[in-house]
Amino acid sequence: MEAAEQIKQKARELGFELAGIAPAGPTLDSLFYQRWLEDGWHGEMSYLEGRRGEIRSDVRSLMPSARSVICVGMVYNTREPYSTQAGPAETGWISRYAWGKDYHSLMKRRLRRLADWIRETHGPEARCKVCVDTSPVLERSYARAAGLGWIGKNCCLIDERIGSWFFLGEILTSLELDPDGEVPDRCGTCRRCIDACPTDALVQVEEPGGPSHALDSRLCIAYWTIELKGSIPTEHREDVGKHVFGCDICQDVCPWNTPRRAAVTQEEAFQPRNARPELAEAAALTADQFKERYDNTPLERGGHAAFLRNVATAMGNSGEPSLRIPLERMAASKNPVVREHAIWALGRLRAGAKRPGPDGG
Ligand code: SF4
Ligand code: SF4
Repeated sequence: MEAAEQIKQKARELGFELAGIAPAGPTLDSLFYQRWLEDGWHGEMSYLEGRRGEIRSDVRSLMPSARSVICVGMVYNTREPYSTQAGPAETGWISRYAWGKDYHSLMKRRLRRLADWIRETHGPEARCKVCVDTSPVLERSYARAAGLGWIGKNCCLIDERIGSWFFLGEILTSLELDPDGEVPDRCGTCRRCIDACPTDALVQVEEPGGPSHALDSRLCIAYWTIELKGSIPTEHREDVGKHVFGCDICQDVCPWNTPRRAAVTQEEAFQPRNARPELAEAAALTADQFKERYDNTPLERGGHAAFLRNVATAMGNSGEPSLRIPLERMAASKNPVVREHAIWALGRLRAGAKRPGPDGG
């Protein structure tokens, strides 16, 4: 068996459902990525700009000896309801990827084992660098080049056998490995994700060689509830619905992610805890209780204050009068952002407002 096939087989043995090889070098849509940054669609995510932005498009900037990129995918989906199925009014929604333990350390451990195996098999001169999410690498673009899936109109990578609920990771290596080809785009005429997005954040773009659609982060619920520091713009708070952390709508409606089609994981670390948090209970968590409950999960990274800000916003959109009591307590918070969102939410509940639609509960 040739080296590339052996490495992909070993990756699958280590628990990566997807594995493929892309050539090191500029990605096909790197020019588009620069345009996306120039147009400011990344919002306040300044870590994507500047030198780190330039490095992202060509892994050789990160590792000059790199000749190939080994791309892997690990499924995190479990058999749990979708956000598009209405839940009780007094609960919020946490994005599917954040239901389990943080994936970074798990994937890094497995990729390091793969890198060790590559060095044992090909000799110590086979250089390897493990990357998961936080490294400046255009992960989705390399994964597309490695045949792990196509980039759908919802801007997610989709594999026709397992859907889009999987994490990405890479090993940059000095080995010259036979690359896999891209897989065809299978979105066709479908536009369910575009029609379902409550904020019109998925925008058609006309960029030769680039994707058909791009995400305007400044309009995305996931950006407001995860990435944005400080206040959620008042004019967008209603659109947040009851999302407490992230948003799954454009993946939930995708026909490649139906319960019949989408792969599920047995990985213990990704088993769900707390998909629909009780809002009143979430609002009452102290900093220590928050840390204990969300220890080593994506929510912990977001921080307690941002969590409370999002909980207050979700309460305001719940239409649930009983949530006025916890909101009144939050309106006395020492944190000005939490306080201000709680006051806004109280105003909405007093006016009897409720966000329509499935994510409004
Ligand atoms: S994550 Fe939510 S808000 Fe963002 S593009 Fe998808 S559906 Fe729209
Ligand atoms: S919902 Fe339809 S258009 Fe959107 S990513 Fe899925 S298949 Fe593509």
